[in-house]
Amino acid sequence: MYNPKSKIATEFIDDTEIQETLAYAAENKANFPLIDQILEKAATLKGLNHREAAVLLECEDPAYLEKIYALAREIKEKNYGNRIVMFAPLYLSNYCVNECRYCPYHHHNKHIARKQLTQEEIVREVVALQDMGHKRLALETGEDPVNCPIDYVLESIKTIYGIKHKNGAIRRVNVNIAATTVENYRKLKEAGIGTYILFQETYNKKSYEYLHPAGPKSNYNYHTEAMDRAMEAGIDDVGCGVLFGLNLYKYDFVGILMHAEHLEAVFGVGPHTISVPRVRTADDIDPDEFNNAISDETFQKIVAVLRVAVPYTGMIISTRESKRTREKVLDLGISQISGGSRTSVGGYAEEEPEEENSAQFDISDNRTLDQVVNWLMDLGHIPSFCTACYREGRTGDRFMSLVKSQQIGNCCQPNALMTLKEYLIDYASPETREKGERMIQETIPKIPNEKVRRLTVEHLADIAGGKRDFRF
Ligand code: SF4
Ligand code: SF4
Repeated sequence: MYNPKSKIATEFIDDTEIQETLAYAAENKANFPLIDQILEKAATLKGLNHREAAVLLECEDPAYLEKIYALAREIKEKNYGNRIVMFAPLYLSNYCVNECRYCPYHHHNKHIARKQLTQEEIVREVVALQDMGHKRLALETGEDPVNCPIDYVLESIKTIYGIKHKNGAIRRVNVNIAATTVENYRKLKEAGIGTYILFQETYNKKSYEYLHPAGPKSNYNYHTEAMDRAMEAGIDDVGCGVLFGLNLYKYDFVGILMHAEHLEAVFGVGPHTISVPRVRTADDIDPDEFNNAISDETFQKIVAVLRVAVPYTGMIISTRESKRTREKVLDLGISQISGGSRTSVGGYAEEEPEEENSAQFDISDNRTLDQVVNWLMDLGHIPSFCTACYREGRTGDRFMSLVKSQQIGNCCQPNALMTLKEYLIDYASPETREKGERMIQETIPKIPNEKVRRLTVEHLADIAGGKRDFRF
């Protein structure tokens, strides 16, 4: 029985409710008066429920699709402005006791190199990341209580925050580790993590159980209820995601919205971010084995409809996607991207020899961070290295209320300019620096609040004079 307030996974992600939603969406896909009503509601920035969003996703009429895309662009601009936040993944360990069929780290894969970074190696990796200009990391590990226990993750976070090298600093560490206990989530919270990220992979219980034949992750309920445990432990910024291509995308699209509705219903706070990865080629993994692959056009539609359905949630796209695909979805609602990424354990300080492959997936966008920053500016986006919100205590419902009232842009825009300025001085190529300085000068007059504008100009001058780390 569907109950968004239930704490039991199969009740807040109810299969019957998803099937009925998909049938309702199919029946109404050309019901234009209804679609107009849904678009009107979405335009108020209040978001949509999973049934309304499913109707938009099902709609195939070209004129209405254009309306959906236009609304997604408008909402993105209103809520977040034109900044795009940069981050990089850092793989600490690829030991894993699970048997996920789509991931090369699965336990029985014997021809992948298994590695766990020592604290000294982490320092080398982080120095390399700081020298690229990164300020925000997403830590990634496989699940292995013996080779990668929680204490190792906690020690690594402490190491990372402690590294001060030249003008560099990692100011926000997000963590993507396996579903765990309330007690362990509490420890992560105390270690000062930003967002706790956990992908559901698929919300379809039957597919989930097929895709996860063994290991702790094979427990659908335990995995699906992980965000509840994280929130109970005080982590109020959580990041959801599904791996598109594993299951029917429409099912998972409805599932992720129901998950967001559940978190809102129980904790008053939806997901801080939603990630939209697609299955990629990797060692021992052929994406063609998964016959639910989605086209670029469908992918764009998913991003746009998510944007209008959950306007308060940041949306993340990684280097799994090509430059071309990333370009297409940036406008439609993406607010965070990775750049210059390595998906192997220890790939930043030193290029990994081919025979030692430890990567989780092949990267489609191989450009350097400087190239990505330069390209973003060509597209009219302000690359941002901002980490201000959680450091200012703007997490959970405090953050959400600022987004929902369209106030967050007043912080995002000046913070983007100030962190971009730091990047330009400390790390950028001459061409990127010149382009960035121009962008900063052109954007300053557009800061609406006079006091914020004046302070931004002062802080930019301070940054040019050698000071760092200003934020609103
Ligand atoms: S997806 Fe995660 S849990 Fe599954 S095999 Fe890969 S690293 Fe392990
Ligand atoms: S001000 Fe907050 S929401 Fe905006 S970019 Fe910075 S951390 Fe993100």
